[in-house]
Amino acid sequence: MWTPNPSAWSRSNGHLCAWLLAILVMLPAGGCNSSTSEDAPTVSQGQQASSSDTHGESSIAADNGARESATTGERPNVVLISVDTLRADHLGCYGYDRPTSPALDRLANQGAVFDDASATSPWTLPSHASLLTGLFPRHHGLLYYRPISRISDFTLADLLAAQGYETAAFVNSMFLDRPYGFANGFDRFEYLREDTKSKMPSGIFAEARQWLTRRRARPFFLFVHAYDVHSDYRSLPKYEQQFVGEYDGAVDGGTVQMALLAREGQLDDDDVAHLVDLYDAGIRQFDDELERFLEQLQAEFEHTAIIVTSDHGEEFMDHGNVLHGRAHFQEVIRVPLVIRAPGIPPGTRIAEPVSIVDVVPTVLGLLGIEPPGNLDGLDLGQTWRSPAWTPPSRFLFSEADHGTQRDGVQLNGIKWTVRHDNFKMHYDRPTGRTELFDLASDPHERVDVAGQETAAFMRLKDQLDRYLAGSRERPTSQPLSDEERRRLKTLGYAN
Ligand SMILES: [Zn+2]
Repeated sequence: MWTPNPSAWSRSNGHLCAWLLAILVMLPAGGCNSSTSEDAPTVSQGQQASSSDTHGESSIAADNGARESATTGERPNVVLISVDTLRADHLGCYGYDRPTSPALDRLANQGAVFDDASATSPWTLPSHASLLTGLFPRHHGLLYYRPISRISDFTLADLLAAQGYETAAFVNSMFLDRPYGFANGFDRFEYLREDTKSKMPSGIFAEARQWLTRRRARPFFLFVHAYDVHSDYRSLPKYEQQFVGEYDGAVDGGTVQMALLAREGQLDDDDVAHLVDLYDAGIRQFDDELERFLEQLQAEFEHTAIIVTSDHGEEFMDHGNVLHGRAHFQEVIRVPLVIRAPGIPPGTRIAEPVSIVDVVPTVLGLLGIEPPGNLDGLDLGQTWRSPAWTPPSRFLFSEADHGTQRDGVQLNGIKWTVRHDNFKMHYDRPTGRTELFDLASDPHERVDVAGQETAAFMRLKDQLDRYLAGSRERPTSQPLSDEERRRLKTLGYAN
């Protein structure tokens, strides 16, 4: 049993794949049930796969001389876990009242919980590119299904490989596979094909655990992306028995069915409650897998930085829809961010808004590595290294939605949000419509206050204009193979 610090245990109770989005093209884009932990102190400051050796081609990653000579002795290992489609407010460490996440809750109690973390996109590919580059989508340029040789000039994998880290990635979505540039910088890269129909755990942690037993040396950087929580909502009977209540409707948690029923307005409250039950059961099944993985890591636990986050959340009719990919409301954009690492005081909670673009500079800060100068993110480690420091007010962006259909036309990238302190502005490009929400008083984004909060509105609009002017075009440079084209077509992507 993995119990690094039982004393910290206090509150255990507490994509569509884009292909389907393309099929479903649906529904009015639309709060959010976001919540923060109620019982932990909030301390706003201080406190079938393919495989190969695919080391990056960048000047950084290819610099074997630098890699061999780098100082690596005292630096901790890094494990970055991304749980696709995981809503923060369905986790005990974020105040949820169902026992979905005991293992993650224990981990959270060991380190820092960021109560207000945002993704940069409502779907997998752009958001993960931000997670691994520290750049907003407009700046890394990986917005849609465009094959590309590498995500950016460098990724976290490149940077750590250059410092002598052994690097490995186990990913569970086709959008994190080689055609989209995610393999660069990893010595070992495995894509395990997602199986949304299976009730079994994905097996991604089993792959990662096996690698841990065979790796050559420390320090290492391990990136694990798990698709277990993503729809279809499937889990083993023991989890469904724990979370799924009586229900006599027809909804089964399948993605296509769910989307079609939502589009036709045929999901009633009981159906949605059943979907939530199935989703929560999947979270708990994943959490048990996480626990087994952490048990294996136990021998090196004290020398390992562990980051758990997600690429986006999921809609349960919060704003009239299900799944994710189209809307930028908090049920989709707010994600968990938990960091346990040497030097972080247990029980640290940070209330200020942060973003997944902060993960790269924060990891580098934990390792004492100077971050590149052009990152959009901040080193959040200043929070615990300098108790007087708080994350400054800044503008956080989300974009690159896809799959919305209007007047029979499929549209991608039609919405943006910009966040500043408690204000969040939504912008819809085709209609020019803007909305402003005050998340402090209206966390579910119900009341548009643009007409009352004119100063905040103008401030956010100005920043969004500046952001949009800074686009970085990323040319497609790596054609898809015939097999990849066939798969995309089968899944509804490619024309
Ligand atoms: Zn995703």
